Amino acid sequence: MVKKKTKKKKILNKGEGKSVSDLSEKHFSRYGEFLVSFELSKHGWNIYSPVYDEYIDTIIHKYVCKNCGIIWKHTPQLVCESCKKDFSKSLKKDIIAKKICSSCEKEMIGNKTKCLSCGNKNLVNRPTCNKCKGEVKMIKHNCECGSTEYVTKFRTIQVKSSRIEINSKTGKSKNTYAIDMKPKDLIRDNIHFFIWCLIDNDDRPHFLVLSVNEFIETMGESIKGISFFKDQDRQHFSVNDFGKWGKYLNSFGKLD
Ligand SMILES: [Zn+2]
Ligand SMILES: [Zn+2]
Ligand SMILES: [Zn+2]
Repeated sequence: MVKKKTKKKKILNKGEGKSVSDLSEKHFSRYGEFLVSFELSKHGWNIYSPVYDEYIDTIIHKYVCKNCGIIWKHTPQLVCESCKKDFSKSLKKDIIAKKICSSCEKEMIGNKTKCLSCGNKNLVNRPTCNKCKGEVKMIKHNCECGSTEYVTKFRTIQVKSSRIEINSKTGKSKNTYAIDMKPKDLIRDNIHFFIWCLIDNDDRPHFLVLSVNEFIETMGESIKGISFFKDQDRQHFSVNDFGKWGKYLNSFGKLD
């Protein structure tokens, strides 16, 4: 009995103390993509994954009000015409199923198939408000700002992720992140962006968001460097201030 208990404890301990450093390169890269996706969803984006990886890791999409820019709700509202009670959220069971005879206008509640008064089979549905008996209608969303127009936005995103670099000889932290960039990453389209996901030693992510042009600008002369042309470029920068890339920290707003 005692032996059994110890065994169980051992199994539980196996899962403890694991961190991002335990992930393989391949899994870590995917991990970064997911973290970026979750972060983007906080900013109101819907996230889609391409079937094939062609240097675009996610396509993001949102509907916003054309006038004030807040998220546009595309699903119609179910609202009482008279008292404006909104049934869209969770109160659908409160909508009274009323039917009205097209011939004698008798009102009936529930699943009737013919008029109780005249036998007419042509009954008109009238979803009815349980509060004021007004008619519940399906209405198109308009923004609180009064706008009736929205815009649809699409962006394409390439994610690169890095953990803190370790000196392979000493095993000590180098206090730098490293991102590999190649000429083929430079999709020259103004809806294409890079998001670098940098994981610190406490497994906390930091996000740098930059457009293709910002990347080229910040690279300066080294964009023409031989190592970049030969796919051997690797940007190393400090874990403390992210070096020359620091100005792109959390700049998710530019995606809008
Ligand atoms: Zn608006
Ligand atoms: Zn009502
Ligand atoms: Zn009738």
